[in-house]
Amino acid sequence: MTTGGQERPELEEVLDRAADPEAFEAWQRRAKATGWCRHPVRLTGAANRVDTATGEVIGHFASAGLPDGVLLKACGHRRATRCPTCSATYQADAYQLVAAGLRGGKGVPESIAAHPMVFVTLTAPSFGAVHACRHNDGTLTFPCHPGAGTCRHGRGRACHAVHEPADPLVGQPICGDCFDYIAAVLWNAHAGELWRRTTIAIGRSLARQAGIPRSHLRHHVRLAFTKVAEYQRRGSVHFHAVIRLDAPSGPAAVPPAPFDTALLSAAVAWAVPAVSVPGPDSPGAPRAFRWGAQLDIQTIGADGKPPKMVGGYLAKYATKSTDPDGILDRRLKAADLAGLDQRIGPHLAMMVRTAWDLGGRPELEHLRLRAWAHTLGFRGHWLTKSRAYSTTLTALRAARHQWNLQRDGDDLRDAAVTIGDWRYAGRGWTSDGDAWLAETAASHAADQRRTARQGTRTTTTGGATGDA
Ligand SMILES: [Zn+2]
Ligand SMILES: [Zn+2]
Ligand SMILES: [Zn+2]
Repeated sequence: MTTGGQERPELEEVLDRAADPEAFEAWQRRAKATGWCRHPVRLTGAANRVDTATGEVIGHFASAGLPDGVLLKACGHRRATRCPTCSATYQADAYQLVAAGLRGGKGVPESIAAHPMVFVTLTAPSFGAVHACRHNDGTLTFPCHPGAGTCRHGRGRACHAVHEPADPLVGQPICGDCFDYIAAVLWNAHAGELWRRTTIAIGRSLARQAGIPRSHLRHHVRLAFTKVAEYQRRGSVHFHAVIRLDAPSGPAAVPPAPFDTALLSAAVAWAVPAVSVPGPDSPGAPRAFRWGAQLDIQTIGADGKPPKMVGGYLAKYATKSTDPDGILDRRLKAADLAGLDQRIGPHLAMMVRTAWDLGGRPELEHLRLRAWAHTLGFRGHWLTKSRAYSTTLTALRAARHQWNLQRDGDDLRDAAVTIGDWRYAGRGWTSDGDAWLAETAASHAADQRRTARQGTRTTTTGGATGDA
């Protein structure tokens, strides 16, 4: 079995793998090429490299010649809870993608750093009081919910505890019966549309402030953005976004006056409270969905947040899971609903069950809430960007693939294509010994990365993402 755990396997299995030094080295090279993935996909088959000009086969590659007769491919999971090493790769790609749009690189001009840019955090409204960790700059702490009286369920409204961030109570409702689960799940399901309307409203606001018709805006300025979705402890999705202004011609030029950072900040501040999405016609559904009152707009650049820090935040958020243990990393079946309380806590379990129940209502069919119960109703992408913002994850992956092939000594020519026939042979390491070797190498590589980073890192604090 390939649990990927740290438990030491039978020594015999490790020795089997390491018995022949040459074969071991070949295996290690292939395993390393997956980045020491925890659950690599095993493929069998063969491929020819063909010269597109002449049709001549210029190279042949078959899994039969590889250790165990299989080609190993990294699983590519985004979540650290599923595969720590693939998640680290995803995080690095996400960082490059975000950073390129902030300071240039990967085909984006470095002059981009001088464009008006803001870093915005958008949150959900309150669906009922939840236990909160109220730290102020790390020194002052406040009690959770001072106050008095009881709710209509006879429970006290106050909580005088001072919660630490790690307290499992943080994000849990003070009264579960008062918490509006239907609204919370449906809000997640409409958050993507709310964001789309917000980007349109920002454009409208920019045009109005500049005194030009909305339809002329694209002749003056272009809006570029990237955003990452993350969950608050209460199970509401929220967004961190970089919004940037470019010249009408694109990222190569600074937008003309009056389109500066102050105008952009003002446009965001106007648009966010103004937008709404109408609620669906279904019992208990809110009439409209809006952003929460907690809006944070920070400028990026010389006298604002350093681009490197912003890129780091977004990349970190992009690999976080819905729940700390990654139970909700995959789609759920009806049978998974039983026993969720013990696995993810009563509050998130109730969010999942509510999504599942709402998914059975015909009028909400378009929201596909059963397929998205594990994401608590949210069915958008974790990392999105407008086309002009920067490079794409696909481009970054293609570049790395090319590099890996070249490193392997494969003769790559532009005028060649690979035609292959591959079959799925399974997932994961085939013995506990292999899994242990991969896990050990992965943690060793992670240690080295950490040591290398130590010297260059200037900040390690995370963004404040308080719950309502
Ligand atoms: Zn992996
Ligand atoms: Zn509390
Ligand atoms: Zn109550």
